[in-house]
Amino acid sequence: MQLTQALHKAVRECPNALAVACGDQELSFRQLADRVARLAGVLRQLGMQPGDRVGMMALNSIRYVEYLYGVWWGGGVINPVNVRWSPAEVGYSLDDCDTRILLVDRYFAPQAALLRETSQCLKTLVYCDDGEVPAGMLGYEQLMAEAQPAQDRRHQGEDLAAVMYTGGTTGKPKGVTLTHTNLYLNALSAVAAVPRPGDKVGLVVAPFFHVAGCGLSLQLIQRLATQIVVPMFDEVVILQAIEKRKVTESFLVPTMIKRLVDHPRFKEFDLSSLGMLLYGAAPIDEALLDQAMKALPHTEFCQAYGMTELAPTISVLLPQDHRPGPDQARRLRSAGRPVPIAEVRIVDPAGQEVPAGTVGEIVARGPMVMKGYWNKPEQTAAALRDGWMHTGDGGYMDEEGYLYVVDRIKDMIVTGGENVYTAEVENAIAQLPQVSMSAVIGVPDDHWGERVHAVVVLREGASLDEAALIAHCKALIAGYKCPRSVEFRKELPVSPAGKLQKFILREPFWAGRTRAIN
Ligand code: ATP
Ligand code: MG
Repeated sequence: MQLTQALHKAVRECPNALAVACGDQELSFRQLADRVARLAGVLRQLGMQPGDRVGMMALNSIRYVEYLYGVWWGGGVINPVNVRWSPAEVGYSLDDCDTRILLVDRYFAPQAALLRETSQCLKTLVYCDDGEVPAGMLGYEQLMAEAQPAQDRRHQGEDLAAVMYTGGTTGKPKGVTLTHTNLYLNALSAVAAVPRPGDKVGLVVAPFFHVAGCGLSLQLIQRLATQIVVPMFDEVVILQAIEKRKVTESFLVPTMIKRLVDHPRFKEFDLSSLGMLLYGAAPIDEALLDQAMKALPHTEFCQAYGMTELAPTISVLLPQDHRPGPDQARRLRSAGRPVPIAEVRIVDPAGQEVPAGTVGEIVARGPMVMKGYWNKPEQTAAALRDGWMHTGDGGYMDEEGYLYVVDRIKDMIVTGGENVYTAEVENAIAQLPQVSMSAVIGVPDDHWGERVHAVVVLREGASLDEAALIAHCKALIAGYKCPRSVEFRKELPVSPAGKLQKFILREPFWAGRTRAIN
């Protein structure tokens, strides 16, 4: 089993169908496979040996898809760079992975040029964009024009396919080693678990360097679907792409959905082709889900829960669970049921399974579990115990096998001995029409250990004060869960994958102290 298998199948079965488009650029499956084979030839010429890591530092583009498959075709391992990292972080990760070849686009070429001076390993920079090739770099198109197409090396399933980094939501991103089997089976199981619209045009918005973007792309190729790629998140570009390309499905994280449905031009576009919207990667608040379902009445919704370490999806809340009915409200708080390949359990700190309805740590086992963290044996041993991936997420399962993610264990607040799940408080706050976004965090409190603190962004022009916000929460949730203090800000720190980085908000409060949970 190897990831290029899907591309071979597409070339055999629908060579002239549109494989990938970005802006006005388009490639059929045959053209894509030809360019992939050529890129594999280029990389081998540049010295890539089987198992070598190759980096990419770029916004989403057609060439990103070529890179993924070109590296695999040539026998290598992808090592995509999170483009929001500082040059020092990029340099560290490239050296850590012994990555010698890096592809860069025009946005990151200046940064990459500096990198070569600081990095011990980096030898070759390939400029994979239009326009003049910067000094000291090789030109992608020129290399491609001169290269001999290579034969597919055809990996074994257990061969490493990727060193992919976690979202960096809770701190420094970790390099996750994923095999061909991990990624292939996970994509296959997501394809099998979620019914999709008959027409097959997917929109990839999440960055390819994150498993959410890359994973969706793999699913689309497995289904021989067209993928429309946008360079980065931009509301109007996305809305236009859905209308123009008649996009039938996409995956968005909650912060992206929020920005789309709140956009003043949202109603100008015909989005009726969008049959399926997958969402996940972070908790969604009920008010936003309700708003999005109303704003997109022709669209089925499906939630995915997972993590980079699980390649990524392990549970899905299906469209039927979103439909009106007696169970709807309860179901919409759930992250759904495990996909067929994943065994999911809830355990206590001793590793014992807890009864239905009891909160514990979510753990998962199956062929999608990573090999480990790159060069981090201690963190690997802490996460992988007896084949079970310990997710670091708190949750419970109900009698019918629905999984509920209550909070990241690190984000939970223990105040006066009571557990507060921050997502529940954020949900209550989100019901205030004045509120655009909020983050609830635990801050030190001499009496209670920690106290509930809310950082809130108001909608433009709206006004609200601390007392009114707290009074609103008191009407909805238990007193100990309500914020004791509220801070209003213009924006919240969000990771490149669009997730709230609460550790950044917590840091100033905890300077010099240690949280019990960390
Ligand atoms: P890091 O591990 O570097 O802190 P991260 O955990 O955000 O970053 P990812 O692998 O991108 O890195 O994300 C996985 C996490 O995202 C999960 O552990 C979980 O906390 C959260 N998550 C994913 N899907 C959902 C979902 N449907 N509902 C709630 N939370 C989710
Ligand atoms: Mg994580």
